[in-house]
Amino acid sequence: MIKRRISRAIQIGRVKVGGGAPVSVQSMTKTDTKDVKATVAQIRELEECGCEIIRVAVPDNEAAEAIAKIKRKIEIPLVADIHFDYRLALAALKSGADGLRLNPGNIRDRDQIRKVVMAAKEKQIPIRIGVNFGSLPPAPGRKIPAADFMVKLAMEQVELLESMDFDLIKIALKAFDVPTTIEACRKIARKTPYPLHLGITESGLPQTGMIRSTAGIGILLYEGIGDTLRVSLSSHPRDEVFAGYEILKSLNMREHGPVLVSCPSCGRTEVDVLGLAQAVSDYLKGVHSPIKVAVMGCVVNGPGEARDADVGIACGKGKGVIFKKGDIICTVKEQEFLKSLIAEINSL
Ligand code: SF4
Repeated sequence: MIKRRISRAIQIGRVKVGGGAPVSVQSMTKTDTKDVKATVAQIRELEECGCEIIRVAVPDNEAAEAIAKIKRKIEIPLVADIHFDYRLALAALKSGADGLRLNPGNIRDRDQIRKVVMAAKEKQIPIRIGVNFGSLPPAPGRKIPAADFMVKLAMEQVELLESMDFDLIKIALKAFDVPTTIEACRKIARKTPYPLHLGITESGLPQTGMIRSTAGIGILLYEGIGDTLRVSLSSHPRDEVFAGYEILKSLNMREHGPVLVSCPSCGRTEVDVLGLAQAVSDYLKGVHSPIKVAVMGCVVNGPGEARDADVGIACGKGKGVIFKKGDIICTVKEQEFLKSLIAEINSL
């Protein structure tokens, strides 16, 4: 069991973050926020994938105003992503954003921040202090490591918000470099009680980005650090949601749809295990219950290796056995592998 860091709970719309709540999965739209139709369509698609919090870019006033229209057509809470101009944060709050993300790397004027904090306080809207390695302010002659500098920057803003009697705070410290991100998050976790948002920035295309993100986010989660996460990928945001849940499922922290156990196949394999695993995986995309299905390449090891699967198949030459929780229930012919396994999945 992972022993989670005790963080203070905040509420992003209907979603509780921190305070022992399940680690929530977020994403960010890749549409022009001003294009309400396209943005709503993307958010709805993400809602169907299980996305729990959505963030939208607010680069100008029109985008801030679009939030009100978008909010009327979506279910999940919406966070406004603000850089450079504090007035956009005020406009987003007016439009009904459920959360703000401020970047202390590019909004540093205390009076401007004070105005945002006062408006957020009045509406009881949380603010994420989101420090990104890529947008650290210039620090000529900086002697401290990047992770420490990120922590310092976040702590300055935490203290500023606290001095205004504001504690609806969430913090994110993200870098492309995994050790830097881990180090920064470990340090901030020890210094504050606030919930942490995890992520690895600009982690890349799905194949490599998911691995990079899993290395960083997974290590932190296993240490009990993290209350919500976003996997940033150069891909459709549905891949970010998928990856977020797969990380949490791998650590037994969340259940979300089926889990497929499939063996890598080896010299003992006598059928197309990889093809069968892919076909089962495709079928499972339409299944939403958290069942565990196994596709194994041999009868010798199959049922034993996938003992805890709810249902599985262990393939042999020309025939295979279907098993449930490690117990063999019937033998089927090779032509019926997929059909029989699907019938058993449906019977659960
Ligand atoms: S389950 Fe059987 S076929 Fe698959 S990798 Fe293991 S030994 Fe090889």
